[in-house]
Amino acid sequence: MKKIAIIGAGTMGNGIAHVFAQAGYNVNLIDISENALSKALATIEKNLDRLVKKERLTLAGKKKTLANLSLSTDMKAGLAGVDLVIEAATENVDIKLSIFKKMDELAPKKAILATNTSSISITKIAAVTSRPTKVIGMHFMNPVPIMKLVEIIRGYSTSNVTTKKIMDLSMALKKVPVEVQDYPGFVANRILMPMINEAIITLNEGVAGVYEIDTVMKLGMAHPMGPLQLADFIGLDVCLAILNVLHTGLGNPKYAPAPLLVNMVMAGKLGRKSGEGFYQYTAGSKDLIVSSSFR
Ligand code: NAD
Repeated sequence: MKKIAIIGAGTMGNGIAHVFAQAGYNVNLIDISENALSKALATIEKNLDRLVKKERLTLAGKKKTLANLSLSTDMKAGLAGVDLVIEAATENVDIKLSIFKKMDELAPKKAILATNTSSISITKIAAVTSRPTKVIGMHFMNPVPIMKLVEIIRGYSTSNVTTKKIMDLSMALKKVPVEVQDYPGFVANRILMPMINEAIITLNEGVAGVYEIDTVMKLGMAHPMGPLQLADFIGLDVCLAILNVLHTGLGNPKYAPAPLLVNMVMAGKLGRKSGEGFYQYTAGSKDLIVSSSFR
């Protein structure tokens, strides 16, 4: 595999593009939004600068990484001649199905079509393509350049050949791939999201505040980040979308999203990416400030 296209240049897409470009692959990063593309490039440059500062990358390595990267809003040109497409667009089933139909039409017949979805069925996505044996979940973790895990999800029809190629590719990126079956939320979010949801319910019931809940989980359970801070980091809209998939997919009321989470998403409080969630984020500030709504 040499040439990779990534669809969606948001939180995850820019990280995936960074990792592939730094590992020497030719990467086309595609988004419908010019603004998302320029923000993605700025983030990648900032993250590469950080690596250079820490002496984990040379200046020449940074230049080479950026030279491996092209950004575009043109999906047709971006998918020409690629070996692999990784879709990392908004966590919405209709958006993903329509993107996969286009990917199937525009990418070479030999190409593998992967999705970074957190929870949507790989089998459902594969069914809208003419190549379900070549459709697979490649679920990177946030932030992609730092996190080692890639959850590799086999759809009902995913072939052994496709799975092996993607497992090998993940290892070539110096990641640790783990193979799981296609079931709502797979493994990572089946376990993580109920914890985040419970933290939001605990906050809403007034058992403890934002700082207290996160401190209990950080210092008591040795989690690097509390669940509310992690929810902000992931994006509250993404958390809500995943909980909805778990709730409908598994049919168990224990997965119903906390009403407070639903309200915050409706109010546009999406966490770090919107500037406010359980915490408030001001440009340049490293301090964690609890949002005024919860003080
Ligand atoms: P995001 O909202 O930050 O970015 C989504 C991007 O997709 C936006 O830039 C948007 O313009 C673009 N987009 C939407 N429709 C498109 C289309 N038709 N064609 C091209 N681009 C389109 O979302 P994100 O957090 O990066 O999540 C992307 C995917 O990764 C989702 O499936 C999500 O579940 C998954 N994921 C997210 C995290 C996380 O921590 N945020 C972790 C693992 C996996």
